[in-house]
Amino acid sequence: MKIYRDLFKKLAHQYRVSDPDSFNLKDVDPKDTGGLEGGDKDEAKKVLEDAKHELRDLQNVLYADDKWSILLIFQAMDAAGKDSTIEHVMTGINPQGCQVSSFGVPGPEEMEHDFMWRCINKLPQRGRIGIFNRSYYEETLVVRVHPQILEGQKLPDQFKREEIWQERFEDIRNFEKYLARNGTLILKFFLHVSKEEQKKRLLRRLDRPEKNWKFNVNDVHERQLWYNYQMCYEEMIKETSTEYAPWFVIPADHKWFTRSVVASAVEQAIESLNLQYPRLEHHDHEKIKRGRDLLENEDD
Ligand code: ATP
Ligand code: MG
Repeated sequence: MKIYRDLFKKLAHQYRVSDPDSFNLKDVDPKDTGGLEGGDKDEAKKVLEDAKHELRDLQNVLYADDKWSILLIFQAMDAAGKDSTIEHVMTGINPQGCQVSSFGVPGPEEMEHDFMWRCINKLPQRGRIGIFNRSYYEETLVVRVHPQILEGQKLPDQFKREEIWQERFEDIRNFEKYLARNGTLILKFFLHVSKEEQKKRLLRRLDRPEKNWKFNVNDVHERQLWYNYQMCYEEMIKETSTEYAPWFVIPADHKWFTRSVVASAVEQAIESLNLQYPRLEHHDHEKIKRGRDLLENEDD
């Protein structure tokens, strides 16, 4: 078992984009399973279970320590498995210490603000884990693929210029550096699904009545812009994968694999903080002794 645990931690490290300048999305095969085969599926599932256990303990220390916050950002094409990965990796964690926020098409109130505002409102407190299911990165993806969305934004015209994407990348890098310097550990996951696998999953949404509600005809239209999206994703990753807020590009055609890699990456990153339960001071020991005396000598 330990062999598999170590293997997944190694894989998680491998999928981290540590040299963004030479990053090429084509080098990551969505079907990749790190050399594992279908027969290793059960072991991979055990890794996920173990990592979840570990995460629950780590989250308790994180909460007690009350200094760091963890921000996990998930981006992907439709049906890549964001929702189910988040669900699988995070079940088991105390819900009071973890909040998932999903970001869809901005509403009228959100349109009245700068592009990061709605996400800033959902940043995790110290001692908590915040998960973004899509994020401000959509402003360099869907908005870039559909120029009419930018047209419709209430941004002054002088800023709607060619350089806007580079400017957004720069703003995001600066913002994430600011968060990191304030004690937010940021990990970003791009779940990389293939076009064929997406088709299968969308068809499954049509075939199975209990999945019909998930089907959105718009996903089929977006799919036709696959290559534009891939180009935008690649540039986004190159421009915003940093030491302090790295991207992990995780193969996503096999869900059992994706989940175990993501859980291992999160576990490894929180472990590296070396968190400890707060140590008691001398006067705290006195308080504990007094509390015990009071409880033990209480009149019934
Ligand atoms: P699923 O994978 O199950 O389809 P989802 O994350 O796609 O889930 P939806 O509610 O179907 O959730 O879609 C959210 C939509 O909102 C996406 O198409 C996304 O591109 C869009 N969106 C998110 N942020 C923005 C933004 N800032 N501007 C415009 N559209 C956005
Ligand atoms: Mg969708």
